[in-house]
Amino acid sequence: RVVEIETFNAEEESSEVTLRPDAWSEYIGQDQIKKNLGVFIEASKKRQEALDHVLFFGPPGLGKTTLALIIANEMQSNIKVTAAPMIEKSGDLAAILTNLEEGDILFIDEIHRLSPAVEEILYSSMEDYRIDIIIGSGPAAQTVKIDLPRFTLIGATTRAGMLSNPLRDRFGMNFRMNFYTPEELAQIVAQASRKLDKEIVHESALEIAKRSRGTPRIALRLLRRVRDFADVADESIITFDTTQYALNELGINSHGFDEMDIKLLNLLVSSKGKPMGLSTIAAALSEDEGTVEDVLEPYLIANGYLERTAKGRRATRATFDVLNMDYVNSDGT
Ligand code: ADP
Repeated sequence: RVVEIETFNAEEESSEVTLRPDAWSEYIGQDQIKKNLGVFIEASKKRQEALDHVLFFGPPGLGKTTLALIIANEMQSNIKVTAAPMIEKSGDLAAILTNLEEGDILFIDEIHRLSPAVEEILYSSMEDYRIDIIIGSGPAAQTVKIDLPRFTLIGATTRAGMLSNPLRDRFGMNFRMNFYTPEELAQIVAQASRKLDKEIVHESALEIAKRSRGTPRIALRLLRRVRDFADVADESIITFDTTQYALNELGINSHGFDEMDIKLLNLLVSSKGKPMGLSTIAAALSEDEGTVEDVLEPYLIANGYLERTAKGRRATRATFDVLNMDYVNSDGT
């Protein structure tokens, strides 16, 4: 049973069919994570204990929420899904925790955004399965201890670095999500297209995959858009021609870069190879620093198009190559 305290990403979930896998067999890639989690799940089932707390970190859209749902499925546990911005006060968290039952899973997305007061309650609940609540104020204030059932917290964050040490230390397992290879993404696209009842030729699935920044969420969004073109063209199967036509119409670049990536790369090369600070980049792109750091940069860094140095962000030789420009090194020569 899945209880959503917060609603999922609107576009994905409002659609007629959910593309979210609910079994290991449908969860493509991230092999090391799957292998380790499989062992931990089996062990805790054997011991008939709640699974230890789990933390997933990595850029948005790589399958953290999906993994949490699969874990719940495997453990045959109820799962409550929420996100840190929904838990404003310690009372909000206390209400969620006291409503849990033995073995339940609580999934908190964007867990790095919890306020310090809320975080503090979370520590004791994770460690001792107990919380202290202060009732009333001033001299009449009283502390009430409440015992909680053994539950599993699954946290997801785009930024491990933003998590306070005490919080991070209380997770028994930490997993870093990787970007997906084009082949893996093509498999995800093919699987989703079967669910959408619109098969896709392998070449097309791979073409979509290559333009998706290594991210399933982007690949699935592109698949839906390409499917629209195939529907309009009355095709019963998504062909390569339609795919290419659609992707070009949508303005998707063949390296998988989107408009923002291109802006950022152009900005970096415009400094003639000199490193640029995060705040300067964010201001130039009219984005907040968090988005630049969590969403834009990881893919570019993973592919060698951006370098983080002590002095700031810098274009690499590959950046100049990909933009068809002559390389200029950090001395401006
Ligand atoms: P996150 O929580 O990391 O932002 P989600 O779990 O919401 O990402 O995944 C985004 C979308 O991509 C979902 O619709 C999910 O179905 C799909 N997806 C993610 N990872 C995989 C995977 N490994 N295999 C198949 N589909 C996936």
